[in-house]
Amino acid sequence: MQRFENAREAALALRPDEPVYCFRPEVLKADARSFMAMFPGRTAYAVKTNGEELVLKTLAEAGVDMFDVASPGEFAAVRAVSADAEMIYMHPVKAQSDIRLALEKYGIRVIAVDHEDEITKLMRVVRALDIDPGGLTVFVRIQTKGHAAYELSKKFGAGPAYAVELAQRLNRHGYKVGLCFHVGSQIEDPDTYERALASADWIRNRVGFEIAGLDVGGGFPAEYGHDPNSKKPQMPSIGQIMSRLRSDIEEYQFDTMPLVAEPGRVIVAKAFSLIVRVLLRKGRRLYINDGIWASLSDSWTGKITLPARFIPDPAIRTRNGNDKTIVPFKVCGATCDSVDILSRPFWLPETIDTGDWIEIGHIGAYSLSLRTRFNGFYPDTFVEVTTPFDEGEAPEGFASLETMAD
Ligand SMILES: *Cc1c(COP(=O)(O)O)cnc(C)c1O
Repeated sequence: MQRFENAREAALALRPDEPVYCFRPEVLKADARSFMAMFPGRTAYAVKTNGEELVLKTLAEAGVDMFDVASPGEFAAVRAVSADAEMIYMHPVKAQSDIRLALEKYGIRVIAVDHEDEITKLMRVVRALDIDPGGLTVFVRIQTKGHAAYELSKKFGAGPAYAVELAQRLNRHGYKVGLCFHVGSQIEDPDTYERALASADWIRNRVGFEIAGLDVGGGFPAEYGHDPNSKKPQMPSIGQIMSRLRSDIEEYQFDTMPLVAEPGRVIVAKAFSLIVRVLLRKGRRLYINDGIWASLSDSWTGKITLPARFIPDPAIRTRNGNDKTIVPFKVCGATCDSVDILSRPFWLPETIDTGDWIEIGHIGAYSLSLRTRFNGFYPDTFVEVTTPFDEGEAPEGFASLETMAD
């Protein structure tokens, strides 16, 4: 992979017409290690956030030894980079053949359920393979009410009374039983975790046996951009969210048992930026060579303002306007689909024109993993970049260079 100091160098050297992912392995390692240092339990990276081989490999090098997986493709991706990393299979709704593959071929011994039929599937496989249920930890996924940018908590999870019933059933069959939740993604209110802990506490107090562990899921927020003309939204740093979570965990006395977290976004967001090219400027619209069917669908669903840095093409000799005047541009994606328009503008100098490049920062989460081949566009070019996105010149569409460190 070609290496550059920053995205501007890469853009000017390659003059790419296709989107280029700028991978920052050192940033990925630092963010993984910083999460592991902050969380008082084990860290299982959520593979769906970005399951690229280079990401999983770099995480394994950084010391991540547990991965949250959901499918045969993810089992294989983790095994391909590490022979001994532990996998936890936290998808509550699974094909029975996938459960069998997980247990038999990949030696997975941690699994999540939120329904009695999932227990039935699991028991069939456990019997067929003659596994001692006591060697498995089954996490009952509990329902939570989140206020995340992405509300994932409605789709899965057992209500509190039903969770008690499932836990007791598993316990009777000899499984070790844990409790887990996943409150959504990009959680900006620490109360969300507290409400989930309160719910887990209610269940724990009613099951009538010792639970084997608590998995608090993912959802930890990454930093993005915001409209530079309005007040910077108040958002707690990951350090603040984590210290609240730690004290809530102690308050509910979950600190006495094994803990797991499944971060995705917070670990991988800053590890990638993306160089895109302006295919056409039409007034205050920019047509770029990426979009919601490629790397940018997460920002579309989550209504996220992405930090954008202008990389002017030096070949453009005359420009209109003032390069200090930052204005919002509506961003249209590469496909012919009329919904392929970003839900938030990019803030860029009014001088930007057809042929210029834009570096989109903090794009490592739910970007590459959500690419489609729709309309024949599939960005797949990578370079390595050594300078963190935040340490370069100020990105125009970011307006916030405060770090999230506490
Ligand atoms: C998606 C997912 C995660 C990761 O969520 P982030 O918001 O990226 O941290 C963790 N756990 C489960 C069960 C998930 O589905």
